[in-house]
Amino acid sequence: MDYTFAPSPAVSVPVTGQSRRFPVHRVYCVGRNYAEHAKEMGFTGREPPFFFLKPADAIVPAEAGQTIDIPYPSLTSNLHHEVELVVAIGTGGRDIAAADAHRHIFGYAVGLDMTRRDLQNDMKKQGRPWCIGKAFDQSAPIGPITPAAASGDIGHARIALEVNGRVRQQSSIDQLIWNIGETIAHLSAAWTLQPGDLIYTGTPEGVDAVVSGDLLHATVQGLAPLSVRIG
Ligand code: MN
Repeated sequence: MDYTFAPSPAVSVPVTGQSRRFPVHRVYCVGRNYAEHAKEMGFTGREPPFFFLKPADAIVPAEAGQTIDIPYPSLTSNLHHEVELVVAIGTGGRDIAAADAHRHIFGYAVGLDMTRRDLQNDMKKQGRPWCIGKAFDQSAPIGPITPAAASGDIGHARIALEVNGRVRQQSSIDQLIWNIGETIAHLSAAWTLQPGDLIYTGTPEGVDAVVSGDLLHATVQGLAPLSVRIG
């Protein structure tokens, strides 16, 4: 195949315990999926799930044990952290029942849905799309993917984020408003899921700003941690 210029390289994420990497197709994100976070954003926490996407090349994969650097992005003075459990889809499908969702899951990772909150809020006020607040370059750091069979009881795992050694966010995956199976059911009614899709499942309460030089340490019990330095 001849191209007018070299195609972009595939984006991929390391897999714990394997030499083969997980190639990324799409990056879906769930909005307001923990009640206490929905409340801190001014909502009741009872709304149906809703989704947005980030481009696949917004993913910044961390190798095992690596601290990755991401630049402080342009146009914002209110860059927020959102620690999230990420579900990696290994088998695609549409109209997947919540009870069958586990058959489609390759594994899990810890991710950060970095957010230009000032721009997101401006867009919200004007009823415009959130893309500029959410889908910017290098907005989706992710740790290595742990295969589902090695991930333990992910449905009850602790999720946490420390900034410079201080806990900013902590909750449990069982506090998700829409659990992993329900999220996949809703998502696959709207889009046909494909192998390589990543789903950022939403963040618990405690989102806040970071500044240049901050060190973020994100964890979900049972998974490889994620460390990010803001440039
Ligand atoms: Mn989020």
